[in-house]
Amino acid sequence: MIRRKIVKIHEEKCDGCGLCVIPCAEGAIEIIDGKAKVLKEELCDGAGFCLAVCPTGALSIEEREAPAFDEEAVAKHVSSKPAAHEINCFSCGCGEGERPLLAVRSKGESLWVCTRCLPKLIHG
Ligand code: SF4
Repeated sequence: MIRRKIVKIHEEKCDGCGLCVIPCAEGAIEIIDGKAKVLKEELCDGAGFCLAVCPTGALSIEEREAPAFDEEAVAKHVSSKPAAHEINCFSCGCGEGERPLLAVRSKGESLWVCTRCLPKLIHG
């Protein structure tokens, strides 16, 4: 165990929508019995990409004692899962294979936007 950053799920705020599952490249989060759960703490790197998409504020990052992040365990876990759903830019529809996508919040909605459409979103 080491002291490090790791995601914290506030279950009382989680409605089980599943939006946080896709941004996690490590596949650390799954919906179990209607709530988001960290499958194994060593799969979560604490980067927090899941935070931006949660519509209810159920996710935060905390610093505490936890098993070290384990890249080998992640590689094994990810290779055992079916391919992730494709994510597309809400504006132009391109996928992450074409341009990097970022999660943003706008008018109470969680959206994915590509790097080409992001300036338009910022500047109007
Ligand atoms: S995005 Fe938020 S509300 Fe939705 S499943 Fe994940 S933690 Fe729960």
